[in-house]
Amino acid sequence: KRVLVIGSGAREHAIGTTLLRGDSVDEVICAPGNPGMALDGIRPADLDVADHAALVEGCRTLGVDWVFVGPEQPLIEGLVDDLTAAGIPAFGPTRAAARIEGSKDFAKGLMARHGIPTAAYASFDDPDAARTYVKDHGAPIVIKADGLAGGKGVTVAASEDQALRALDDIFVGRHFGRAGDKVVIEDLLEGQECSLMCFVRGDRVWPMPLSQDHKPAYDGDRGPNTGGMGAYSPVPQFGPAIVQEALETIVKPVAAAMVDEGFPFTGVLYTGLMITASGPRVVEFNARMGDPETEVVLPALTSDLGAGIMALMSGGEPRFTWEAGRSRICVVLAADGYPQAPRLGSPVPLVGAAEDLHPFYAGVADVEGLGTPGFTAVSGRTLVIEASGKDIPAARDRAYSVIDGLDTDGLFYRHDIGFRALG
Ligand code: ATP
Repeated sequence: KRVLVIGSGAREHAIGTTLLRGDSVDEVICAPGNPGMALDGIRPADLDVADHAALVEGCRTLGVDWVFVGPEQPLIEGLVDDLTAAGIPAFGPTRAAARIEGSKDFAKGLMARHGIPTAAYASFDDPDAARTYVKDHGAPIVIKADGLAGGKGVTVAASEDQALRALDDIFVGRHFGRAGDKVVIEDLLEGQECSLMCFVRGDRVWPMPLSQDHKPAYDGDRGPNTGGMGAYSPVPQFGPAIVQEALETIVKPVAAAMVDEGFPFTGVLYTGLMITASGPRVVEFNARMGDPETEVVLPALTSDLGAGIMALMSGGEPRFTWEAGRSRICVVLAADGYPQAPRLGSPVPLVGAAEDLHPFYAGVADVEGLGTPGFTAVSGRTLVIEASGKDIPAARDRAYSVIDGLDTDGLFYRHDIGFRALG
């Protein structure tokens, strides 16, 4: 089969590579993709993902059998609905189901109606009412722009002043445009976060191994929040009982709730969890795979990803199996200045894959005339190095021994990915 993956990041590189490992997929095309993917035989295709009619045409011209939609934006814009209507099978939730990520107010309402454990909240479209709520409630308190804001729309406010400033940024400064027409204000949850991704079809759920992301830019969780600077999986400090509790109290009930309310979810549902003293609580839902979590989770799949997804889409019985006894870690190499003002144009090294090591490329372009073969940075996130070992320390040592040997001038990375797993 010939599969089109939508997206251009390291997540899509990992999805494409995993599809190609299975017998059911012969060819992966990625739109728009990036040139680093070509190292694994994934062909970038210059298609305009936002133009659904053109994309349908492109699928027909390229002879695409089915489509895997990686990022949230096209899901929220109804790409799966439009491809399906044109007779092209597409893996991912419909526009209606993707609202679980596209609107935080919608997700909180769904959870409230179905008793799914999450932080208490209130939502407002009136700035004065929001300010009054913050003053009555006091700090700490969490302020969120309702819509998609690329991870920047959330302020965990330690003081009332900071919370009021965050409200002004959203309502007055319009920092997030229409995504800030509404705000969700939440109680603070305390604990460690982790990510539970599951294949979902209607009320049925097939979990992937647990993983943990590192959002702040610098070592020791300092600096601004980013799209994620690294991840590892599994998460040894959280055993199977916690995952089971999260599945029974959160993922299965929310999947059933979406069926009940008339917008069943098919795709990958990502649950951002806070493991609190009283158990797992929902921080957020995403309607797609996480980046960088995908880069440590999919390499652990031992079954045929394409076959599993085709079974899932056609109503058959999918099979997903995972390796045991290995740990994986990934480290994001980002352009200096990321996330605020990434300095572009720096060389991004060419890294060879090995049995226990895989580079997944993101914001890179081909470069010629550098003297050495390689790529150049065209966005903040450039390259993700994934390594595996018998446990987290072994995987970490393998990843950093490779990264420390690279020429990373103009790039930076965290040196402490996995630290919470080390006690
Ligand atoms: P965006 O909408 O800007 O893309 P996002 O979807 O990443 O952001 P969330 O996942 O809801 O937004 O929040 C981002 C981060 O803020 C979380 O990963 C978590 O660290 C922190 N956070 C969010 N809600 C809470 C909460 N109720 N208690 C404590 N921390 C929180």
